[in-house]
Amino acid sequence: KDATVATPYDWLTASIEVVRDRIIDQWIKATKEAYEEKEKRVYYLSLEFLIGRLMRDAFSNLGVMETMRAALASLGVDLDLIAGLEPDAALGNGGLGRLAACFMESMASLGLPAHGYGIRYDYGIFRQVLAEGVQHEVPEDWLAFGNPWEFERPDLSCPVGFGGHVEEVTEEDGAVRHVWHPAETVTAVPYDTPVVGWRGRRVNTLRLWSARAPSPLDLDAFNRGDHVGATAGRARAEAISRVLYPSDESPAGRELRLRQEYFFTSASLRDLMRRHPDPGKLHEHAAVQLNDTHPALAVAELMRLLVDEKGIGWEQAWTVTRETLSYTNHTLLPEALETWPVELMERLLPRHMQIIYLINWHSLQSLEGPRTEDFIRSVSLIDETSGRRVRMGHLAFLGSHKVNGVSALHTDLMRETVFRDLASLHPGRIVNKTNGITFRRWLQQANPGLTAILVDVLGPGILDDPGLLAGLAAHEGDPALRERLRAARARNKIALARLIEERAGTRVDPSAIFDVQVKRIHEYKRQLLNLVETAALYEAIRAEPHRNWTPRVKIMAGKAAPSYHKAKLIIRLAHDLGRRIEEDPSMRGRLKLVFLPNYNVSLAERIVPAADLSEQISTAGMEASGTGNMKFALNGALTIGTLDGANVEIREHVGPDNITIFGLTAPEVAIRRSDPDHGRAAIARSPRLASALHLIRSGGVSPDEKGRYAALVDGLSDDDAFMVTDDFDAYWEAQRGLDALWADQAAWWRRSIANTAGMAWFSSDRTIREYAQDIWRMPVE
Ligand SMILES: *Cc1c(COP(=O)(O)O)cnc(C)c1O
Repeated sequence: KDATVATPYDWLTASIEVVRDRIIDQWIKATKEAYEEKEKRVYYLSLEFLIGRLMRDAFSNLGVMETMRAALASLGVDLDLIAGLEPDAALGNGGLGRLAACFMESMASLGLPAHGYGIRYDYGIFRQVLAEGVQHEVPEDWLAFGNPWEFERPDLSCPVGFGGHVEEVTEEDGAVRHVWHPAETVTAVPYDTPVVGWRGRRVNTLRLWSARAPSPLDLDAFNRGDHVGATAGRARAEAISRVLYPSDESPAGRELRLRQEYFFTSASLRDLMRRHPDPGKLHEHAAVQLNDTHPALAVAELMRLLVDEKGIGWEQAWTVTRETLSYTNHTLLPEALETWPVELMERLLPRHMQIIYLINWHSLQSLEGPRTEDFIRSVSLIDETSGRRVRMGHLAFLGSHKVNGVSALHTDLMRETVFRDLASLHPGRIVNKTNGITFRRWLQQANPGLTAILVDVLGPGILDDPGLLAGLAAHEGDPALRERLRAARARNKIALARLIEERAGTRVDPSAIFDVQVKRIHEYKRQLLNLVETAALYEAIRAEPHRNWTPRVKIMAGKAAPSYHKAKLIIRLAHDLGRRIEEDPSMRGRLKLVFLPNYNVSLAERIVPAADLSEQISTAGMEASGTGNMKFALNGALTIGTLDGANVEIREHVGPDNITIFGLTAPEVAIRRSDPDHGRAAIARSPRLASALHLIRSGGVSPDEKGRYAALVDGLSDDDAFMVTDDFDAYWEAQRGLDALWADQAAWWRRSIANTAGMAWFSSDRTIREYAQDIWRMPVE
């Protein structure tokens, strides 16, 4: 196109393609080296990759950002403007998917030969549209204008079977060989996206599979006039990569979900085995990391490939499988632990079900000494409590040489709860690898203002070695530094205020505390606790309007799983309460509550650098790690949080005086829960809580439908499983302490500086180094 007719979108595509050519040179070089040097490689299997936009990432890591900015400016084009047009690759729900994206970036930055494997969903997570606080889900058509980052590789397509039957063939030597004859075949077509490491260090591949029918059209049916039926088979096959399923949810889209899991696991294993010709030594050349249980079928599939297709004996195949695979557990919530009905597995994956039974048999056979029925039930791959179901976590555990938790607390709880008995049989198998975030995206790109100050004070070395951030602590009392940081934060807050006005239609005061809770909406994350405290604060301000209240803007965002009604109701409560506050003149300049729609990576990149206060208030024992908590603390927000997930380690690293911890601990929660009346008792103890709940329950924020929140509030007295009531008073007191701290800006900023200075350890480069050393057994400098 000629420049005179080019749209901003054309400029975006052109800019990406210009830089893409350079990336491809590096990419081919990395692939060639890995091949020639027979390096061991990592394969990261994940049903989710929450990548966000790629342009800034690639330009920045290649070091061409300023060159491109100047080149575009000379043509009259604003780089920031076109960057904002890039669609957000939202192929994930939340933390788990974002972790996979941060890991891919860190592996490339550390020069590790690594491949990510997942699904190329036509539609990633839904776009959240709010109408009067009611969430509507709209398909996110992120590929509508094409995707200049991906390369289709039809030459590497691979068939994936489903259903059918297993034939037993007796060989001449009497051995029995199993041949699976699938009833249905789907073609997996790979699309490759380059992952550029920091300073262009290495370019790795993210390979996402798209599902195709082997035959696009039933021509006979079409010619008979059945134009719809002629493509029915195609629609069924292609449904596999149509949409990302919301996984933070209880029972969802059963069969299709299992088809997705097998589809990408099988295609990925076969693809990687092609790269390593000696299957008996696969573990010497390949480390396969399973991100949660979604790819746990890899255990059965790898056994099938080795035993049935490569003719390797069971014992050796089991050693190769276990030494190749490792598994990351992300949740202990019982409703989120994946199981599949045996009946469905037998129908969809008959050979895999046989293999799972055999693995279970071997595992139970090897038990030594007398074992109780309870113990055998607890370590079995088959759960018999409500129908017979395959426990995917157990399958992944048995088939892996290492199983990791994602924070110290979560790992301890794993050892004590779900995997207690399995762990006693396999001591040393469970290890901890606390999550991390890539500082390139979450500090350097998201917060250039803060980054410039850090470079100025600590030197450009901090861009390569986050360990140097610790040097900031020496400057914590420096008023000039404090003033520069405050000014940088103020600019970020003004930019966010502009965005809030655009997207939520309301003006917020950038000089107020920006108090932020952004993450998936879930009861255990306790957005409700935050809202009840907001209601209580509203009442307190009304009762004493002339007191000197610390101005606060509460900012919330997050998606609720489509069928999670309570989570949707919590979003609606945020909207209704926000409106009630907005309409009350006595709240002006004191309190504000805004809910921003459609939380995603790009929105997080705008919110994180503008936060003063980070809400990490999950019920202790329930948040496996959290990574949002790390993004905020790195950017200098103070944390108010419970002793949960990685908050525990953040406290150790930034120092207990620089973080506000409140509420019950995980063991205390366990004890309190056994008292069926704990919610009612907590409400009776706290007049402030009782009053705020009464406001919400009686229609005080929903005059148009007085009973809207009755059941939600009543649930807190009857069965407050998430300890909202029990933790309320402690949370309230902690918040008031922060109000007082805000009045002493020097003290506030000393704490803020200590946070940024103490967060180096939470770089995903550190996490990946630990995986490489302890799990993948690969050299990394
Ligand atoms: C970091 C991130 C998350 C994870 O947030 P938590 O607070 O750890 O739950 C979820 N979604 C997006 C878009 C993120 O960037």
